[in-house]
Amino acid sequence: MRTLTILGATGSIGASTLDLVRRNRDGFRVVALTGHSNVTVLAALAREFDAEIAVVGDEARLPELRDALAGSGIASAGGEAALIEAAQRPADVTVAAIVGCAGLAPTMAAIEQGRTVALANKEALVSAGGVMTRAVAQYGTTLLPVDSEHNAIFQCLAGNDPAHVRWITLTASGGPFRDWTAERLHTATPAEAVRHPNWSMGAKISVDSATMMNKGLEFIEAYHLFPVGVERLRIIIHPQSIVHSMVEYRDGSTLAQLGPSDMRVPIASALAWPARMETPCEPLDLAAIGTLTFRAPDELRFPATRLAREAVMAGGALPAVLNASNEIAVAAFLSGKIAFTRIVQCCENVLAATPPAPPQCLDEVIAVDQEARAKARVAMELLI
Ligand code: NDP
Ligand code: MG
Repeated sequence: MRTLTILGATGSIGASTLDLVRRNRDGFRVVALTGHSNVTVLAALAREFDAEIAVVGDEARLPELRDALAGSGIASAGGEAALIEAAQRPADVTVAAIVGCAGLAPTMAAIEQGRTVALANKEALVSAGGVMTRAVAQYGTTLLPVDSEHNAIFQCLAGNDPAHVRWITLTASGGPFRDWTAERLHTATPAEAVRHPNWSMGAKISVDSATMMNKGLEFIEAYHLFPVGVERLRIIIHPQSIVHSMVEYRDGSTLAQLGPSDMRVPIASALAWPARMETPCEPLDLAAIGTLTFRAPDELRFPATRLAREAVMAGGALPAVLNASNEIAVAAFLSGKIAFTRIVQCCENVLAATPPAPPQCLDEVIAVDQEARAKARVAMELLI
């Protein structure tokens, strides 16, 4: 029996994680569950899994959460500090599944406990970079990637010396607009952008997938998780999302991890690591799938991966600036304020400004993030 905390329990990754826990009730005891706005779901989950505490990020909703948990004996709390306190409660495994840089401080708090952190919240690692990886080393934390590509790479690297790696290849579905012309991309609507062909995910990552910024963020994520050097990382389009990523070694052997497009597979891999657990996913039927195809990315129609590569190569604060401006621009697109193609343009404009000094600690990362958000809001107004 292992203890488990889920930061972002009310989201898509949270739901997939809890679905696995529901099927393995003897394997886990839930410590803390957090949400942000969805108090009804949070309270229901806390009751179902008999959590020690439920925490709502939006403090204004705490009274509602208290009401919903009345008589359950489950503790409740609200606000950013409460999220951090929840992450500090002893738990064998913490699933970091808050969306965006909002998850950074709670994820860092979990890392500082020196246990196991299963990381879905890629924006936190992209923004904090070395600050986070240094904390992982300092506290002796086991950081397990949940992002399907990184979980695949982690599995393909197991038992091998990274010094022998020739290439790490991240696969990308290409998103719902992969075959759209540049002209048509201007007209893409939020409803079209969140309709991903292969994966069911939260709205923000769905838009990131449509712009290919998701792959850009994942490129930076891979750079930090697997230190083989940026020149050994590459991206390939694989529309079927069956091969989740690959590692090629110097002898010409390529190891790939395959699986259904269901996040419960990589989540289960992280939850059970180094063992394995059952998932309800259908076995992979390659004969029925028939064909797996691959092609080079088109950075003219989808410049986000180029921006990410440039940001990680320039280093310092730039990845955090890229992430923050993308979060602002995606929110603006989702609320109908800017056109689809303006998202990445907004990021490029903010990146072109003088970068802040490289952040050396968590507070400095958060300051860079806040400053970049302010710049992105200004940049965005000019693009409306
Ligand atoms: P969702 O939008 O479905 O869920 C996000 C979660 O974060 C919810 O629990 C939400 O609470 C909470 N949250 C939102 N804003 C805040 C905030 N300001 N403070 C605290 N909590 C907040 O996202 P996903 O589950 O899709 O994604 C979560 C993370 O996992 C992202 O970083 C994403 O990139 C990554 N990821 C997701 C994949 C997927 O398939 N979904 C695949 C790979 C990575 P509430 O809903 O109550 O408002
Ligand atoms: Mg991914």
